[in-house]
Amino acid sequence: MKQITHWINGKPWVGTASRRGKIFDPATGLQTGEVDFATVAEVDAAVDAATAAFPAWRATSLAKRTSSLFALRELLASHIDDVADILTSEHGKVKADAAGEVSRGLEVVEFACGIAQLMKGEFTENASTGVNVHSLRQPLGVVAGITPFNFPAMVPLWMFPLAIACGNTFVLKPSEKDPSASIFLAEMVAEAGFPEGVFNVVHGDREAVDRILTHPGIAAVSFVGSTAVARHVYETAAHEGKRVQALGGAKNHMVVLPDADMGDAAEAAVSAGFGSAGERCMAASVLVAVGGCGDELVERIQARVTRLTVGNGTNADSEMGPLVTAEHRDRVASYLAIGEAEGAKIAIDGRDREVKGASAGYWLGPCLMDEVSVDMRVYTDEIFGPVLSMIRVDTLDDALSLIERNMYGNGAAIFTGDGAAAQRFETEVAAGMVGINVAVPVPVAYFSFGGWNSSLFGDLHIYGPDGVRFYTQSKVVTSRWQNIRQHHSSLAFPSGSGSDKANKEGSKK
Ligand code: NAD
Repeated sequence: MKQITHWINGKPWVGTASRRGKIFDPATGLQTGEVDFATVAEVDAAVDAATAAFPAWRATSLAKRTSSLFALRELLASHIDDVADILTSEHGKVKADAAGEVSRGLEVVEFACGIAQLMKGEFTENASTGVNVHSLRQPLGVVAGITPFNFPAMVPLWMFPLAIACGNTFVLKPSEKDPSASIFLAEMVAEAGFPEGVFNVVHGDREAVDRILTHPGIAAVSFVGSTAVARHVYETAAHEGKRVQALGGAKNHMVVLPDADMGDAAEAAVSAGFGSAGERCMAASVLVAVGGCGDELVERIQARVTRLTVGNGTNADSEMGPLVTAEHRDRVASYLAIGEAEGAKIAIDGRDREVKGASAGYWLGPCLMDEVSVDMRVYTDEIFGPVLSMIRVDTLDDALSLIERNMYGNGAAIFTGDGAAAQRFETEVAAGMVGINVAVPVPVAYFSFGGWNSSLFGDLHIYGPDGVRFYTQSKVVTSRWQNIRQHHSSLAFPSGSGSDKANKEGSKK
């Protein structure tokens, strides 16, 4: 069985863990390893290593940082398959989906390779006579990332490449359910030439997280996970005076207008609803059928799901794998009974789904609940599994209004052939990321990712230009090299015209 431990100061941590978690293969239900849970002292050791590495790292030239980022890019690109295998073995997602996850993380490393351009400040000559003004972006210090189980490689990659490119040092606390990918990433960071202590990993649960949130040596925290924990992270870290971005859960609506190509829409709903077994924060979880297109959508989804292969993610023909843990599978499956009791109609029941070549494992086939209404728990709760709920409404107005009233606001998509309707949707919908005939509108790495309402606490979205803003603080420098004494001869508050007067007087003398 594999033993996963922390990565501190460029190497695996040597120590005896007082608490450990179990790692399972979700497709077989077998335990495959154990992961050490960090104590407060071990989190402190990681922060100490990051603190010690910071002065030299922030002073390292952009050229050298960029060269290490390029090396990391090459290593990651050449190991996509290896990382994908790790993801499939601990998360359960199918290999092609896992490789897609790594590629989307790789995009952020590529974006970070342009750090020299991204860190550029601004310069104004002669703001007042003889006075120049320029701005700098500088790193914050030690920053931390806390990440969820559903993207064990991509979400850490949303954070640390850009954070360290900006000159910060980093402490990552990945999900304890699938921790191995973070250590593989740490090994690549070391091989790429980043100095010891620039990137550290501590494993664990709430004990480690709470130490990160209150540690006085940590300047900023990026969090991605469920809304309840995101709120706790935001409130605690902000109370401690840290900069925080805390991305939470989601309930993403996919609106289908009657003029849409129903074949395209059904295919997209299946892909966005059941890909990665629905364990994506950008999964389509509510299908909003407008103006009577619901029956045709249900029929087409049923037909597609009949052909969908559920199985071990290591099989090349599997399209959907298991859920991450037995408890999570049971919780997700329980929503079918809850929905039925609330009056929803089960149009596809994944509980009796046959799984090719597998017996044990945390299986639940694709599920579709029809005739769902906004007061039902299956609508208000984030289920986070392969369960699509369909709500039928009369008009686009109705669809926009129900999205507006939902507590989340991560992504929203519309399927239509009508440009005016799409344009209106884009303008009015209450969500941070919008798809038009795109069901999973995750922004590319040179835009930023983030939702609205209870899907994000904080001001700045993650990665992209907002990521650079989050991981740097700005400084504005005003400088004068002429007539310095004349300018300061008055005690009046310095103003542009006042300093012009002082300059004129200075030049007369
Ligand atoms: P989670 O909130 O249970 O865990 C996230 C992280 O917080 C993990 O590292 C975990 O160890 C830690 N944690 C868990 N409980 C904690 C507690 N009580 N106190 C302190 N730390 C705690 O989330 P998860 O189940 O790993 O991931 C799924 C959730 O993440 C879903 O809600 C999903 O929507 C969300 N998610 C959101 C985004 C986004 O971008 N908005 C992206 C991916 C996942």
